[in-house]
Amino acid sequence: MGDGNTVSAGRCFCGAVRFEFTGQPKWVIHCHCESCRRAVSSPMTTWLAVPNDRLTWTGSARSYVSSPGALRKFCGNCGAQVSFEHERFPDETHLYVASMDDPGAFRPSRHVFFEERLPWMDVHDDLPRFLKGSGKGARPDLHGPATES
Ligand SMILES: [Zn+2]
Ligand SMILES: [Zn+2]
Repeated sequence: MGDGNTVSAGRCFCGAVRFEFTGQPKWVIHCHCESCRRAVSSPMTTWLAVPNDRLTWTGSARSYVSSPGALRKFCGNCGAQVSFEHERFPDETHLYVASMDDPGAFRPSRHVFFEERLPWMDVHDDLPRFLKGSGKGARPDLHGPATES
């Protein structure tokens, strides 16, 4: 997939809030945590992470603190969620793959907070599953069917 000059754009539902970044995301993950579930009113969501120095915004998003240190932004006009930031990683922003203009271009590499997934959320891909987060050298707790050994 593209080089460092690739520009990827996304937006809220109504288009009042837009963003674009250059290069590839640091990572792309599925998150099953309850906070994400409540924020997007959906069983899970898929994130990509971008360094702030490669990200530009157009329009002004509103925001709220969703848990200590965590800031979630959304469009004040249409209400679509657009980003997640945390004081633990002040140099990056997480964007929803679903709000990108070309969401199919961003393939997730793992599931996180898999222990919080809904019981009927039956996942059969071959990606690694982390029961909690996957930061700081964490190792996967489970693997999908295709990589089971
Ligand atoms: Zn909007
Ligand atoms: Zn989450």
